[in-house]
Amino acid sequence: MTHTSASTVQLDKKLRALKLSGILDTLDLRLTQSKDDGLSYGEFLELLLEDELNRRADRKSKRLFKKAKLPFNKDLSDFDFSFQPSVNKKEILDLASLNFIEKKENIIFIGQPGTGKTHLSVALGVRALLRGYSVLFTTVWQMINNLTQSRADLSYQQKVKAYLKPDLLILDELGYRSMAESTVEDFFEIITGRYEKGSTIITSNRSFNEWDKVFLDKTLTSAIIDRLIHHCHNIMITGESYRFKNRNKK
Ligand code: ADP
Ligand code: MG
Repeated sequence: MTHTSASTVQLDKKLRALKLSGILDTLDLRLTQSKDDGLSYGEFLELLLEDELNRRADRKSKRLFKKAKLPFNKDLSDFDFSFQPSVNKKEILDLASLNFIEKKENIIFIGQPGTGKTHLSVALGVRALLRGYSVLFTTVWQMINNLTQSRADLSYQQKVKAYLKPDLLILDELGYRSMAESTVEDFFEIITGRYEKGSTIITSNRSFNEWDKVFLDKTLTSAIIDRLIHHCHNIMITGESYRFKNRNKK
């Protein structure tokens, strides 16, 4: 304990009981400061409460980042728009204002592998987290597997909820594999459940007219696309893979 000199053991105990760890940590510093600078009781109290609020905001943010399961942490500032001119920088920066989350709109990135779809999705996810929104990142494959498995241990409803709850759900890599018939319904349930309730970002290497190859069933495919694109920003990336960047320079 660092501040037994100024505060008392009893005070520490009470702060702990009230779970005011932010105050507990800065109390000694603030006591010295209030003496040195002649702070009023009101100013002193306000400083302490601010310390506690900062601590809580910090904790919440860490918790949100952890729960989001982002595969990496990249920002929009790491994205080289000059390399990918088919991506409209202004449109992406507009999206980064996160109005789309307020309006429960979706974003669909379509482009070849390596064109930055995951990078842009994650970067928007990071912005959302910094604003205090809940985010969940998953590949479509992971989500489908997870839902399928959950039927076996009867946690299906609970898993569905986990995908419906976040303010922003990022579904990466739609279309790398076709889905089994039984799993398309699960996917449909998530999309229907989030419709006008939460934002979803989807990345895909396939254009819409090929999605029936992913979902196999034409009726379900159009039902899924209908719900997704009703309030949606479609972003087609037509450039080449960033992974070829250095290769072409040589
Ligand atoms: P995709 O999801 O479309 O397959 P990624 O987003 O995974 O592509 O991009 C592949 C790699 O290249 C990642 O490391 C990503 O950060 C990087 N990358 C892609 N496009 C850009 C870009 N325009 N500027 C900077 N890095 C990029
Ligand atoms: Mg990707």
